Amino acid sequence: MFFNEDHEYIRDLAREFAEKELAPIANEIDQNDEVPQHIYDTMAEMGFFGIKIPEEYGGQGMDTRTYVCVMEEICKKCIAASLIMSSANSLSTAPMLLAGTEEQKQKYIPGIASGKDFMAFGLTEPGAGSDAGSMTTKAVEDGDYYILNGRKTFITGAPFAKNAVIFAKTSPEKGSKGITSFIVDMSLPGVSVGKHEDKMGLRGVATSDIVLEDVRVHKSEILGEIDRGFITAMKTLSVGRIGVACQGIGVSQGAMDEAVKFIKERKQFGKRLADFQGLQFMIADMEAKLNAARLLTYNAAYEMDMGKDVTKAASMAKYYATEMSLEIVSKALQMHGGYGYIKDYPIERMYRDARVLTIFEGTSQVQQMVISGIVLK
Ligand SMILES: Cc1cc2nc3c(=O)[nH]c(=O)nc-3n(C[C@H](O)[C@H](O)[C@H](O)COP(=O)(O)OP(=O)(O)OC[C@H]3O[C@@H](n4cnc5c(N)ncnc54)[C@H](O)[C@@H]3O)c2cc1C
Repeated sequence: MFFNEDHEYIRDLAREFAEKELAPIANEIDQNDEVPQHIYDTMAEMGFFGIKIPEEYGGQGMDTRTYVCVMEEICKKCIAASLIMSSANSLSTAPMLLAGTEEQKQKYIPGIASGKDFMAFGLTEPGAGSDAGSMTTKAVEDGDYYILNGRKTFITGAPFAKNAVIFAKTSPEKGSKGITSFIVDMSLPGVSVGKHEDKMGLRGVATSDIVLEDVRVHKSEILGEIDRGFITAMKTLSVGRIGVACQGIGVSQGAMDEAVKFIKERKQFGKRLADFQGLQFMIADMEAKLNAARLLTYNAAYEMDMGKDVTKAASMAKYYATEMSLEIVSKALQMHGGYGYIKDYPIERMYRDARVLTIFEGTSQVQQMVISGIVLK
């Protein structure tokens, strides 16, 4: 219904890559807290970093549904390996595609689409998470430059990012209507990164603060109009939320696969675990919820491809797919009994990896605010 032969062809390629290259090392990525470069090199060769970036900016020019197929397959085996790809196709490039000048697009997007450069997305601050509009990072005009001061927190890929989109207050008295987005070169004087956060899951991609101390950013690096940055941030997050929904359905399917394999093999009370109705009903419940989440995610991608406003569809997909992933992965672990609690089994990592999905790119409560705000408008 949502996909054609081209989508299925790319899905097969992504599945093969995930099964052959990611599955065997997913636990190693978690333990070493590093995605090996050869994985990124292969993903770059396969065109995944630019899969839905327009061809004129070095991407593959494919649609959101193709992106969804690839993300889902990768996340069945290893969500961490999807993070940079999902960023490249959403948080890193959407602000430029939405608000950038032609010059900015030509300057920055090809490097991201090829997987050579990484652009971080700096919205969250220590005191401004769900309420991002209350940020305190400031940008003050000084001739041809703006001078930025502040601190961004939990920024994916900050330590290896070449540039970052930074949101800062240019008119603090206007609240969220006084925010501007800037492209900041991470090698500029005054830019530094905080400690590498020791995360519960999604290990393999560094998360750190970005500290800005009297950073002089040229006016040519302003992204979009002055004081319109918050709109760019919110529209970008709608794109990103479809990616997080894919992470939710991918990890849920991965966990289901592990649980099905396990309960078909293990015996208790003289029978396979899969022969007990208590577990059969649990599997049925998980399968139905996973497919509901999948349909919401595919629908959001389809609507985006049709050029519709996906604010509500993307929030519903992100909300449902990620909440469901916590339930499905937890039940899949439960079916493993004590073995699910041991690091030798992939389900232990999947459980930790899934936990952040209801938190980043807008918590479940923020998605509920977005959805109810539209319904009650
Ligand atoms: C691994 C990881 C990577 C991340 N990467 C990035 C990144 O690249 N760029 C970036 O900018 N940010 C990033 N973030 C930050 C992330 O988006 C924030 O953590 C998230 O938006 C929540 O903000 P907070 O942590 O400050 O929680 P808070 O906003 O303090 O929320 C705490 C709790 O209160 C709830 N809450 C808050 N307000 C309300 C309300 N009005 N009604 C009901 N409940 C409410 C929340 O839902 C949550 O449960 C990342 C975070 C993590 C953990």
